[in-house]
Amino acid sequence: MTAKPAVRGARFPAVLEQSAPGATAKSKTTLRPQAPLHQAARDAGQQHRPTGLGLDSAAVRLALVQRLRAEFLCHEAVCQAMRVVPRHQFVDSGLATQAYEDTSLPIGLGQTISKPSVVARMLSILHEGSRARASGTLGRVLEIGTGCGYQTALLGQMAQRVLSIERLKPLHDKARANLGEHRAGHIRLVYGDGRLGHPPNAPYDSIIAAAGGSDLPAAWLEQLADGGRLVAPMEGRAGSGQVLLVVDRQGDDFRRSLHEAVHFVPLKSGIE
Ligand code: SAH
Repeated sequence: MTAKPAVRGARFPAVLEQSAPGATAKSKTTLRPQAPLHQAARDAGQQHRPTGLGLDSAAVRLALVQRLRAEFLCHEAVCQAMRVVPRHQFVDSGLATQAYEDTSLPIGLGQTISKPSVVARMLSILHEGSRARASGTLGRVLEIGTGCGYQTALLGQMAQRVLSIERLKPLHDKARANLGEHRAGHIRLVYGDGRLGHPPNAPYDSIIAAAGGSDLPAAWLEQLADGGRLVAPMEGRAGSGQVLLVVDRQGDDFRRSLHEAVHFVPLKSGIE
């Protein structure tokens, strides 16, 4: 029997509490005599303008999740989190209309937010680790590469605790703002070099990296809990590009498996 996935969250409402557009307000068309042009323009200016271009609606997120479901197995806990977290609030307003397309987007300083299908895939793999499968939660999570904070927010829905590290101060600050001052207390953002992990809170049941290097930092393996799983983009054989690397820990045994090709920004050392 699989335990029910833990769905948490403070700032983002549970999707089931929201209704699809038009579900409550019945639209009614009233025929009126045509108004003079200047009056029509004034009326139009006074009309309520929808904020977020309709992106605040749960329906756009549901459509994205349905597309992801149709393409591959998106773990139910991941789908649920993606239905709750408003991706358009994590990207610049000029890019918001593209937020629910399956595309990566720039987040500043040469970094990108990964496309939803890649995020869904990585989180689903993480959720298929033995400990997460048994408990129904990602448990204590270490995320390397906070970026704009979108994936951090998803992890916040699926985990008991999330510690996310970012090496670029402006992005660390941006993620803090995006997640909101009232973000749930189980999400912690750290400005630092994620290659070192974060020993004070180790061990972690789940470790996920959003930037790819050519070696696996020893600190990540040391800080992975027994029964835990790590997912990271990693350079494959010379010149072959990045692939997803999965490491499962059982005691002192670290079992590695390589998955599909991916394209992530580089994992760098130090802070800026
Ligand atoms: N999942 C993120 C994507 C961020 S892009 C999102 O939802 O926005 C990858 C991020 O990893 C970048 O912000 C980059 O600065 C960061 N990064 C690269 N090397 C790092 C390191 N050693 N420690 C912490 N963050 C790192």
